[in-house]
Amino acid sequence: MSNSKIWLSSPHMGGSEQKYVQEAFDTNWVAPLGPNVTGFEQDLESYLGENVHVGALSSGTAALHLALILLGIKSGDEVICQSMTFSASANPIVYLGATPIFVDSEPETWNMCPTALEQAIQDRIAKGKKPKAIIGVHLYGMAFKVDEITAIAQHYDIPLVEDSAEALGSTYKGRKCGTFGDLSILSFNGNKIITTSGGGAIATKTLEQKNKAVFLSTQARDHAPHYQHSEIGYNYRMSNICAGIGRGQMEVLDKHIGLRRAMHEFYVDLFKNISGVTVFSEPNSDYFSNHWLSCIVIDAAKTNGITSEMIRLALEKENIECRPLWKPMHLQPVFQDCLYFGKSVAEDLFLKGLCLPSGSNLSEINRDTIRKTFLHYFKDKVC
Ligand SMILES: *Cc1c(COP(=O)(O)O)cnc(C)c1O
Repeated sequence: MSNSKIWLSSPHMGGSEQKYVQEAFDTNWVAPLGPNVTGFEQDLESYLGENVHVGALSSGTAALHLALILLGIKSGDEVICQSMTFSASANPIVYLGATPIFVDSEPETWNMCPTALEQAIQDRIAKGKKPKAIIGVHLYGMAFKVDEITAIAQHYDIPLVEDSAEALGSTYKGRKCGTFGDLSILSFNGNKIITTSGGGAIATKTLEQKNKAVFLSTQARDHAPHYQHSEIGYNYRMSNICAGIGRGQMEVLDKHIGLRRAMHEFYVDLFKNISGVTVFSEPNSDYFSNHWLSCIVIDAAKTNGITSEMIRLALEKENIECRPLWKPMHLQPVFQDCLYFGKSVAEDLFLKGLCLPSGSNLSEINRDTIRKTFLHYFKDKVC
C-alpha cells in the first residue's frame, strides 16, 4: 500500500466557499439563519426551476422526516419505500411509528419497479391498509422511471416523496430531479455531489409547505414574545456557516457534474474490452445522470469466476476504496419483519455490484492507478 488512498467520493471545494463563510464571521452571522441560508435556498430554487420552494435543513434525513410529517404520516400508517437504498430513506418512516413496505427495483434504473409498486399498493388496499406515501429514490444519480411511478402515485392518489439525495443536477426528460415529488429532498452530506459539510433540503410545490417545514425545523415557535408552542418542533435548520459552504459549492456544481460524468466515461472505456463487467449507464436519452457514483455489475459466469468481492479486495490492497451497492432494506436485520414486494433484482444487484471511485477531484494519476490495477488484475486472472 504505497499510494495514498483513492476515495469513492470526497468533498471537493470550488474556491469561494471560504468567502461566504468569512462574510458570516465578519458580520457575526454565525448563528442559525442569515443571508447565506436565504442565498443558498435561492440558488437551489433557481437551479431546480419549476417554481419549487426550498428550505435548507441540517440533513437529508431531517428533510425526509419533515416531508413525512407534512404529509400527516402517523403511528400505524404504512409507507412504501424503495428497498434498494441507503437506510436514511426508510428510517424516518419508523421515527413516526409508521411501517415501511419495501418494493424491489427494476434492472434499467435500479430504482423502484413500477410493477412491484402497483402489486404492493393493490395488496395493501385489499387488506384495508392503503399506503399513505411512496418514497422513490434516484440511486447513484439515476432518475427512477418518473412517468410510470408518478402515474401510479396519481392513479391511486398516494403522495410521492422524491428522495433526490444522490441526484442533484440529474434530469429526466430535461426536468431536474428534486422537482418530481409532491415533496422532494436533497442531501449535502460530505460524500454527496456537493456538500455543506453536513446538510440537506426540502423542496416543496407551495410556499406554505416550505414555511411549515421551516417552522417545524426551528422548534415550532408560535408568534409570541415568549416561547410558546402548539406543536412538537425539531432542531433541523441549516446554519448560516454551512449554507455559506453551499453557496460556494453551487458555483461549481455543473462543473463537478461534468467531472463525475467524465469518471463514468473513464470506466466505460476501461471496461469496454473486459467481458462480464457492465458499467451502470443511462437506459436511454430521457435520462441524464450526474453519475454521483460510477457503478459496475460483475457477471462471474463471464469473468472466469472473478466476483465483485474479489475485485473489491484486490482494489483494497492497492488502497483504492470501493464498496458493494446498497444492501436492500428488506435484507437488513433491522427491517427483517417488514413486508416486501417484488423479485430479486435489488438482491442480485447487491450481490454482483460495486461502486468505484467517482469523485470530481480525482487526478490523472489516480485514474492511472485505477486503470493499471484493473488491467493487471484481469490480465492475471483471465486468459
Ligand atoms: C445520503 C442519503 C440520504 C440522507 O442524507 P443525509 O444528509 O446524510 O441525512 C437519504 N437518502 C439517500 C438515498 C442518500 O444517499
